[in-house]
Amino acid sequence: MALFTKQEALDYHSEGRPGKVEVVPVKPCSTQKHLSMAYSPGVAESCMAIHEDKELSYKYTGRGNLVGVVSNGTAVLGLGNIGAAAGKPVMEGKGVLFKVFGDVDVYDINLDASDPDKIIEIVKALEPTFGGINLEDIKAPECFYIEETLKKEMNIPVFHDDQHGTAIVTAAGMMNALEISGKKVEDMRVVVSGAGAGAIACTNLYKGMGVKPENIAMFDSRGHINKSRENLTPTKLAYATDKEYGSLAEALVGADCFLGLSVKDIVSKEMVKSMADNPIIFACANPDPEITYNDAKEARPDAIMGTGRSDYPNQVNNVLGFPFIFRGALDCRATAINEEMKLAAAKALAALAKEPAPEYVCKAYGVDKLEFGIDYIIPKALDLRLIEFVSVAVAKAAMDTGVARKKLDLDAYRVELRE
Ligand code: NAP
Ligand code: MG
Repeated sequence: MALFTKQEALDYHSEGRPGKVEVVPVKPCSTQKHLSMAYSPGVAESCMAIHEDKELSYKYTGRGNLVGVVSNGTAVLGLGNIGAAAGKPVMEGKGVLFKVFGDVDVYDINLDASDPDKIIEIVKALEPTFGGINLEDIKAPECFYIEETLKKEMNIPVFHDDQHGTAIVTAAGMMNALEISGKKVEDMRVVVSGAGAGAIACTNLYKGMGVKPENIAMFDSRGHINKSRENLTPTKLAYATDKEYGSLAEALVGADCFLGLSVKDIVSKEMVKSMADNPIIFACANPDPEITYNDAKEARPDAIMGTGRSDYPNQVNNVLGFPFIFRGALDCRATAINEEMKLAAAKALAALAKEPAPEYVCKAYGVDKLEFGIDYIIPKALDLRLIEFVSVAVAKAAMDTGVARKKLDLDAYRVELRE
């Protein structure tokens, strides 16, 4: 049963002040003296200090806690290319999640632009405003070029959440699924449905975890990606194999893992039955997965199954990642969110799922207990320990890999986040 009606969802956005966010000053502004410091002439002191030392912008402006959520509305949720104005409710919502879960402030930037180079130029020019950039709902393959270029050319973290947020959360689930099933990552055969933003980033990260390229079979809307295919984009070409599969069903026979970031209902019970023992299945097409939880479990009770849905176990929910990853990256003033930081976030999420879930978490999800096992390999979004697990791990990885501009005392930092 739906939790809300269509009208309720619209009213939620329109009632009172339209939209979901407002800007709130954090300095007193009630006297003549305050006013003359907040703006001219007193503000000039901060301006001149920053003019002499750019780093001081982190001390005298809000940029150190401010992320730009940038979208052009070309791949919004499962809604497709609906444009920047129609995507704005989603970007405001993303800002709300950043704030509620990670206490990160957000300006949502909705660009009426489709030319990747124009987007790159605009986002680059926004650097003085922000401590980090979260690219959102920008369609593939442009999203790859945009993110890669911005990462090279900007000195603040640039992170396309549809790619890496998804990758980090599924990687956490994968680490735990491997442990439970006793599978070895280097022997694991993975079948990927989808070759877009989510699928490519997930598969890249799995390779970082040790999955062998020759054990990966990737499919897009036209079928298996192999060397006989023409006109493949560079990102797809990287996954083209000599081996050719005639169908998804053929590739799934004996496979250890299925990752779906494509479209609903393309995997049948028979296909799941043909997979190896303890198959790992992440069927993440939203709102309807490649195969439903119930069908997959009926076909194979030993399946370790995750979906994008909150009404089944093991939800691959990006909110487990981005608020805390940016929290950690901002706090150590990282210049990037690199592979080590992503893996550290995934490991932290995997570790949290092994800790007994507190009563309030079980209660929030209407269950008696949540114990590490095939139906609990990924922590829940309402677990308040996420911030201390993930943000500390991300900041540590940033410091270890030399991208942190500020050194944190991690024990003190953990305590600070907990409070
Ligand atoms: P995307 O960039 O548009 O990629 C979609 C991919 O699916 C494309 O590569 C497309 O092929 C492929 N595809 C379409 N029909 C297919 C079919 N019949 N068989 C195999 N592949 C097919 O989208 P995305 O951002 O990666 O997201 C994909 C899906 O995952 C969406 O439903 C999204 O909502 C969901 N998702 C869920 C989560 C989550 O649960 N946390 C996170 C991210 C995404 P072509 O390349 O040939 O067009
Ligand atoms: Mg998104």
